[in-house]
Amino acid sequence: MHAVAEHVFVITRFYTNIYLIDTGSGLALIDTHFSPAVIGVLGKELPRHGFQLDQITHILITHAHFDHIGGLAALQNVVNARTLAHRRDAGIVRGEQPVVYARRAELKGFDWLLSHFLAATPPPARIDAELKEGDRLDEVLPGLQLVELPGHTFGQIGFWWQEKRLLIGGDVMMHLPWGLTMPTRAASPDWAATKASIHKVADMNVDVLCLGHGNPIVGNAATQVQQLAQKIGS
Ligand SMILES: [Zn+2]
Ligand SMILES: [Zn+2]
Repeated sequence: MHAVAEHVFVITRFYTNIYLIDTGSGLALIDTHFSPAVIGVLGKELPRHGFQLDQITHILITHAHFDHIGGLAALQNVVNARTLAHRRDAGIVRGEQPVVYARRAELKGFDWLLSHFLAATPPPARIDAELKEGDRLDEVLPGLQLVELPGHTFGQIGFWWQEKRLLIGGDVMMHLPWGLTMPTRAASPDWAATKASIHKVADMNVDVLCLGHGNPIVGNAATQVQQLAQKIGS
């Protein structure tokens, strides 16, 4: 666990990130990793920065993929936290709807192969409030705002802290060792919307970009996002 910016921390396991925001009166956790093992990880990492597990008051979900919500149900049994997700992914979190991946007929090569391994279904979990574009989460951070970044899932969202130009963006992009890329095509049901969401981020002039996979980009992330947006076209 280490600080990305003032009030914002990242914990990385198996190339997958979860983020924590120090709200001043508690902690907001963004995403929950693959499995209940997240509880042990948080129990070990939080005290190193003077925090405790029971300080988690909010859990924010960027999107309803297994590697982001797999630990949620177990976590809800041990912490008393309000859980928020976009309205279009909330039904998946609750186990009422299946996850939608790309249509296999649209895929080629590696993406086609990968599509056969995406079947994991996380245990159903509770959602306390469903979110939409522009919703403010002032109780987490004054001015923190929800931005819809659909495509990778229909309810994929980001949490935008305008004052610091910091975006916690889930899988809107991935930050691989060789640079920013689009998310995995096999997992993304609407490829045109996925591209449009990257263009939306390119227009936001993001300074600190915190993604679900790969190191956070701290400082002038916009340059790299704009390069990717140019490369992928519309
Ligand atoms: Zn994903
Ligand atoms: Zn992911």
